[in-house]
Amino acid sequence: GAALPVPDKQVASVCPYCGVGCQLTYNVKDDKILFVEGRDGPANHGRLCVKGRYGFDYAHHPQRLTKPLIRRADAPKVPHATLDPDRMMEVFREATWEEALALAAGKLKDIRDTSGPKSLVGFGSAKGSNEEAYLFQKLVRTGFGSNNVDHCTRLCHASSVAALLEGIGSGAVSNPVMDVTKAEVIVIIGANPTVNHPVAATWMKNAAKNGAKLIVMDPRQSDLTRLAHRHLQFKPDTDVAMLNAMMHVIVHEGLADRAFIESRTMGFEELKKNLVGYSPDEMAPVCGIAAETLREVARLYATSKGSMILWGMGVSQHVHGTDNARCLIALSLLTGQIGRPGTGLHPLRGQNNVQGASDAGLIPMMLPDYQKVVEPAVRARFEKAWKLQPGTLDAQPGLTVVEVMHAIGDGKVKGMYIMGENPAMSDPDANHAREMLAQLDHLVVQDIFLTETACLADVVLPASAFPEKTGTFTNTDRLVQMGRQAVNPPGDAKQDLWIIQEIARRMGLDWNYKHVSEAFDEMRKTMPSIAGITWDRLEREHAVTYPCTEEGDPGQSVVFVEDFPRDSGRARFVPADIIPAAERPDAEFPMVLITGRQLEHWHTGSMTRRATVLDAIEPDPVALVHPLDLAELGVKPGELLTIESRRGKVSLYGRADESSPRGAVFVPFCYYEAAINRVTNDSLDPVAKIPELKYCAIRITAGGTP
Ligand code: SF4
Repeated sequence: GAALPVPDKQVASVCPYCGVGCQLTYNVKDDKILFVEGRDGPANHGRLCVKGRYGFDYAHHPQRLTKPLIRRADAPKVPHATLDPDRMMEVFREATWEEALALAAGKLKDIRDTSGPKSLVGFGSAKGSNEEAYLFQKLVRTGFGSNNVDHCTRLCHASSVAALLEGIGSGAVSNPVMDVTKAEVIVIIGANPTVNHPVAATWMKNAAKNGAKLIVMDPRQSDLTRLAHRHLQFKPDTDVAMLNAMMHVIVHEGLADRAFIESRTMGFEELKKNLVGYSPDEMAPVCGIAAETLREVARLYATSKGSMILWGMGVSQHVHGTDNARCLIALSLLTGQIGRPGTGLHPLRGQNNVQGASDAGLIPMMLPDYQKVVEPAVRARFEKAWKLQPGTLDAQPGLTVVEVMHAIGDGKVKGMYIMGENPAMSDPDANHAREMLAQLDHLVVQDIFLTETACLADVVLPASAFPEKTGTFTNTDRLVQMGRQAVNPPGDAKQDLWIIQEIARRMGLDWNYKHVSEAFDEMRKTMPSIAGITWDRLEREHAVTYPCTEEGDPGQSVVFVEDFPRDSGRARFVPADIIPAAERPDAEFPMVLITGRQLEHWHTGSMTRRATVLDAIEPDPVALVHPLDLAELGVKPGELLTIESRRGKVSLYGRADESSPRGAVFVPFCYYEAAINRVTNDSLDPVAKIPELKYCAIRITAGGTP
């Protein structure tokens, strides 16, 4: 047969998909990626999953945007169309960069000047680099003039971060994933790592095979449950009942770590008082787990030499997401299972840079490094660093992702700049979100494809894909890693950092960052946690863990060894009570919808559905339904069914799947043909403003039009 092409260069980079942050090598010939190999990074030791290994050719897809686009004057914004990117091109005309940037920034400036700074909003991206996130939030805060900046962390771990900041003073993980290999007991709750953090899952499997006791707590079965010592298949929405019952056991059987509680924590008495009504006998019927199992698992967790908790969106995406995370934090504090290798708390971060984008300040209540916008001293520090007049920075937290959609309806938000996010697919109650996006006076979208969101834009700016730029990315373990440019952007597409700067200049900011490292250097000066990481060191070592506060600091992979980063140095117990889901099943909508991801596809699918191998494996929108429910509906596996809620409906193919209990249906949110977020509920957790993407009431009928 023909000889395989030989690469003309190899570029050391990282994976563009999940927060595990596997290091990889791009093998390139003639400005095209030929294939990808794993590299020996701290998180992956050479391993890659199917997305990292095969999901690269989206960058060369013919639908890549190669020219700036301006909406034709006579082209209406149709929020409910199922969008075919090739056909949607017809509503735009090509423009020069000069014309597109002048229109994009000019109209944002007009809206700011006539309707006020708060009528503008920016959504950045957890898929962009730290430097892009940093400059984007700086643009919104200093150019738009408010804190109306957010990104998909709001849909992901906002509740975990809120609970962690409140309880232990830091929103990031306490221990790296790899610590599962040092733990005796590993609790995985509300997460399906085999699908969503596949290489991390391999370390968990290795640990279980080497004798660690894996406890999976999840209403759904997953691949890992086969290796689990116990699978607690609790009823959806009853996390707080189950976790409080475990803590009840620990307190009442004298298994709490008194010395740790006394020397390292505060608020124990309130927690203890709150646990009174949560005995395992009382909670067993609520959560559907036998009291004896709750006792056994609580004892195991409390008494092992090292117990570690890892969690995902099953914990966070509820109206009680913050309470769920508060319970996990309390469990670890109660037993002293934190601050040592093989223990601790690990919210598995989803996107490759959701940790870094949040660290860099792409959130409406915090400046970089989680410094609160409401604190005058913090604002004064940033005003000095950014050479602004004292009193310039907005003192009020800005709007969060879902709040923005409602503010558009109220006429308060009129213009948006969206970089690399796809709220038309990812927001809950997406029909409403699309109507709101269509209603904006001015929408600027910067992306690599004509996404469902870009189709509603006035100006579309063609950006760079991951392998087309250099920048730093922070994985779920707090590892800051170097992503390196391997190929050039196609046609007239530009690097995102260049585009952000061009918009900034046209809004009156005097910016001139010549190289990405200049943005990174500025970040170091304003973010104490990465102050010790130099660009040179990243170039040399590829990855450095923060906190790394001074040059030469090796970086700390396990934190909270001696104290917690709160004023008192102590962590705080925050008790939680049961709050039901916002929308429970009833006679009209008798089933429960759980949304999530699939192994082969990533989030809204804009990249993986254009990656040949991945889309060939999972090409069609599917709903995973219990076989007995399918039979009752009269739907054979592979046939069409329609899922409907009070907000919308979609039709997709039924797949028989026993991993969810009867009455609960799982649907991935990556299929534009059947965008399941048209069905989901936008009720919010009151603390973190995260929507309840893991629970809403639906009905299913046989048949439908895809
Ligand atoms: Fe990429 Fe995550 Fe897969 Fe690693 S586990 S190759 S980071 S998608």
